[in-house]
Amino acid sequence: MAKKKAPLRVLMAFSEVAPFAKTGGLADVAGALPSALSEVGCDVRIVMPFYNRFIEKIAGVKLAVENLLVPLGSQVLAADVYYVRLDDGVVVYCVRRDEFFDRSYLYGTPKGDYFDNFQRFTYFSRAVLALCPEVEFKPNVVHAHDWQSGLVPAYLKHLYGHDEYWAETASIFTIHNIAYQGQFAPELFPLTGLPADFFSMDGMEFWGGINFMKAAIVCADVITTVSPRYSDEIQTKEYGQGLEGVLQTNRSKLYGILNGADYKEWSPETDPYIAANYSRHNLEGKRICKLDLLREVKLPERLMNRPLLGAISRLADQKGFDLLAAVLDKLVDEDIGLVILGIGDDKYQRMLTDAAKRYPDKVSVQLKFDERLAHKIEAGADMFLMPSRYEPCGLNQIYSLRYGTVPIVRGTGGLYDTIKPFREARGEGVGFRFDKYDPDSFWRALMEALTIFSQHEAWRQIMQNGMSMDFSWESSALEYLALYEKAWAGKQREAVREKTEHSEQSAAGSRKRAAGSRKKTEDRRRKTEDKSNKH
Ligand code: ADP
Repeated sequence: MAKKKAPLRVLMAFSEVAPFAKTGGLADVAGALPSALSEVGCDVRIVMPFYNRFIEKIAGVKLAVENLLVPLGSQVLAADVYYVRLDDGVVVYCVRRDEFFDRSYLYGTPKGDYFDNFQRFTYFSRAVLALCPEVEFKPNVVHAHDWQSGLVPAYLKHLYGHDEYWAETASIFTIHNIAYQGQFAPELFPLTGLPADFFSMDGMEFWGGINFMKAAIVCADVITTVSPRYSDEIQTKEYGQGLEGVLQTNRSKLYGILNGADYKEWSPETDPYIAANYSRHNLEGKRICKLDLLREVKLPERLMNRPLLGAISRLADQKGFDLLAAVLDKLVDEDIGLVILGIGDDKYQRMLTDAAKRYPDKVSVQLKFDERLAHKIEAGADMFLMPSRYEPCGLNQIYSLRYGTVPIVRGTGGLYDTIKPFREARGEGVGFRFDKYDPDSFWRALMEALTIFSQHEAWRQIMQNGMSMDFSWESSALEYLALYEKAWAGKQREAVREKTEHSEQSAAGSRKRAAGSRKKTEDRRRKTEDKSNKH
């Protein structure tokens, strides 16, 4: 009987994981990709920080390692590591050091980043690798995500890789958003414990400072981004945020794999948060959801017969709220309803609050993080707005498709890859897309959408086209698996090569030493003979 292949052992490092702790799409990926990988046969474990406020509520968290010793500069700081096994078999380890992770937010307050993010995430990255031998998990692949775990590939290459335990472990790094790179003052470098020459142009030095994402890009065996389009975009000056050159140099190991949607969480057929379940075969429930949403956000029921536009977003420069601000008055003149759920930059919070005050019968702004309301907006709105300046993948447009909520997006990154524009003549396409980042282009896309909305048959067609699309995680998980296997095989070959070179070097060394001592004996013999000949 053929021997069953051992599952590939994958260790994932994430700074946020849904449903434990979430600020955005990264947590959604962390909540779904490991499970999809486990379904295609991997043994997956996750490591994340123990954010007390978020994690203590979770039932079944147990202590895995007490006093894990983790170096940080010249100190060694202990962490307790907790774990929980999820229903799908994935184990989540949470690194607890309250000084770093017992905070009200994950990365910073609305006023700015925490002052010690460098220490917090250097410590976390080091703990990820220190943990493995303690829990007897020897990964074939370590997969780190975004700058917060960007030092993991660097540690593997420059500190741990020489250790036999890690010699065959490949490292993968995924860029979820290149705008957040983890940049810090150069004086902090010694705290990393990395070799001094790693603070150089070929290492993690970037314009005189420290850059975690650059460290990961140069050290990881494979780099991925979350959509094929974004993997091309980040190699350009417009989107690369200064790292385009480094990415061009490393492009042979750069891949784009589209994120999936977790349809267990995001399906109108089963969603427990929405007022009525519905499907593409029976859309009746969607009207009930629209009414429920209007009531919830205190907009008049009169809007039942008008287009209702929704947005759920971090309020950040990336997300195109300046475009929305530029067209808002004109848009409201079209007698539409607008519901926005989001938190973030003060300037956008003020702009939106002001709009809601000016148009209380048409615009509702909810400045909070609210999972339940996010689901209600997906189900109750007619259209979903994502006019992003850039969008690595974007998840809400993918969820929107499944809810029959037609996306209006800018053609960038994952928005370009997932939203094919509607072509009325052919009945094809799932949304409305504009390319140039300016209010006029956005306005044209909005007008096109409003026109088609008034043509019931065409609108039904576009909704149903979107609802039949399938972005489940399985195909992305298989793409990751193929990359993992390739990277691991490469690492195994490298380890064999290094071992052979090492033994050849030591064999050559012993041959040289043996030849040297033979020569010395011969010389001594000759000298003795010469002496005796002279006498
Ligand atoms: P990003 O990761 O750039 O924030 P994505 O579209 O990839 O954007 O993912 C955003 C995720 O965060 C989605 O699941 C979205 O529903 C959720 N989200 C963002 N803001 C809020 C909010 N204020 N309340 C609830 N969920 C939110």
